[in-house]
Amino acid sequence: MRAMGGAMLRLWRHPLLAPLNDAYAWERIGRLLRGDFSLTGVRATVVAVEQHQPDLKSIWLRPNRRFRGFLPGQHVALELTVIGVQQTRCFSCSQAPRADGLIRLTIKRQPGGAVSTAAHRLEVGQAVGLSQAQGHFTPPPGDQPLLLISAGSGVTPMLAIVQELAEAASSRSVALIHCGNGGNGIACADELRSLAERWPGLQLHLYDSSASGRLRSEQIAACVPDWQQRYAMVCGPEGFMAMVRQHYAERPKQLQQEHFGYAAAPVSDDAPLHTVRLGQPEQVFTAAAGQSLLDAARAAGMQPRYGCGKGICRSCQCRKRSGSVRNLLTGAISGNGEELIQLCISTPLSALQLDAQATGAAR
Ligand SMILES: Cc1cc2nc3c(=O)[nH]c(=O)nc-3n(C[C@H](O)[C@H](O)[C@H](O)COP(=O)(O)OP(=O)(O)OC[C@H]3O[C@@H](n4cnc5c(N)ncnc54)[C@H](O)[C@@H]3O)c2cc1C
Repeated sequence: MRAMGGAMLRLWRHPLLAPLNDAYAWERIGRLLRGDFSLTGVRATVVAVEQHQPDLKSIWLRPNRRFRGFLPGQHVALELTVIGVQQTRCFSCSQAPRADGLIRLTIKRQPGGAVSTAAHRLEVGQAVGLSQAQGHFTPPPGDQPLLLISAGSGVTPMLAIVQELAEAASSRSVALIHCGNGGNGIACADELRSLAERWPGLQLHLYDSSASGRLRSEQIAACVPDWQQRYAMVCGPEGFMAMVRQHYAERPKQLQQEHFGYAAAPVSDDAPLHTVRLGQPEQVFTAAAGQSLLDAARAAGMQPRYGCGKGICRSCQCRKRSGSVRNLLTGAISGNGEELIQLCISTPLSALQLDAQATGAAR
């Protein structure tokens, strides 16, 4: 009897039967049959691709039934396999929610950028990984007039916000200043013009910086004289956002910002250094106190898995085995034991031992 039990156990553990008790294997088999299959997560199929400019494309996606929808202004994390490594980046939904459930992502290809370049190569019928919608870049409820200020691909959340209000024939007033470089055409200008024609609530100011120079603070007031009465939302390159922040220096609560870029935070030269040991086989790098573990790993030439770079999407989540970190957003200090941390918002307070799980290099 015992011999038979042992034989059954050996049979059950046979590699050929592994899929029967391995959820990951079921996931892979399911995906061979249907690209958007997932037992646990959101996946989506590319149903159309639109080329707006040489470096700007929209990808239309049909998410599977696990997707719970989004609010205009929110983003999703798109997961693609780039040279064998899973990479995740956030993209704002550039279309208001639709009855057919399709999502549009409008993606600017960055020179040398891993995911934006791979996204530009996507074809109809291919499947991709997605997160649930994330983020709080949504207009406050009510009818306070809005001032939306964007540049380049920063227009994407604005498109969704304006489109939703236009479709609802809202009585809310929206002024949109959108800047672009006329050499490449202003991103999504035609779509914005047609929204302004359809919906009188939209006061559209397209600004061509190749003809008029970069938008300056005083031009915001010139374009939209009642800007002080409006709740403002801004999205664009970091220098542009800094100019708008400066404009609102005395009214910071009136301005909401969405940062697309990921920029390493400066670290002082005399900050203490800590050793970080990662995964098995072990990789070792140094991180300064005050520096995020993500910045430190990237600076050491590693390819950590990350998404938003600001603690929202959890793509860079990783298990800490030992050592203490400080959360750069909240200031909270961890214990020395095991816990999940996010590389992009954790800075070391001591030597650290991390699992390799979250890093592309070791996946
Ligand atoms: C909330 C949010 C919403 C967003 N929405 C949109 C959107 O709607 N549309 C959109 O187009 N983008 C959006 N982004 C930006 C997007 O997530 C990506 O950051 C962007 O597409 C670049 O990703 P990538 O993988 O192509 O580039 P990455 O590979 O991350 O590289 C970015 C840049 O850094 C350079 N670089 C990479 N590695 C190195 C290195 N080791 N040394 C030096 N330079 C290096 C690359 O050449 C490239 O120019 C959003 C970002 C956030 C956070």
